[in-house]
Amino acid sequence: MSYQGQVTYGTQVLQPIPVIAYQSTGNCPACGIGSLQSEMTCLGVFCCIIFFPLGLICLFLLQDQRCSHCGYAI
Ligand SMILES: [Zn+2]
Repeated sequence: MSYQGQVTYGTQVLQPIPVIAYQSTGNCPACGIGSLQSEMTCLGVFCCIIFFPLGLICLFLLQDQRCSHCGYAI
């Protein structure tokens, strides 16, 4: 009847899961660790306001791809 004390042993299986998720996020060509995220530039926002609504096209075209880890920008 001492098996009930070993139920808590199963919680250790959950530990490797965050490690796998961390490794799958790296799509940066510079460091391979961070992920590239779209960032709106000041010029894009400026064009959006001046040439609205056609400026919305400029806003999306002028987006920067920036790494969240090393700051590498394409
Ligand atoms: Zn990077």
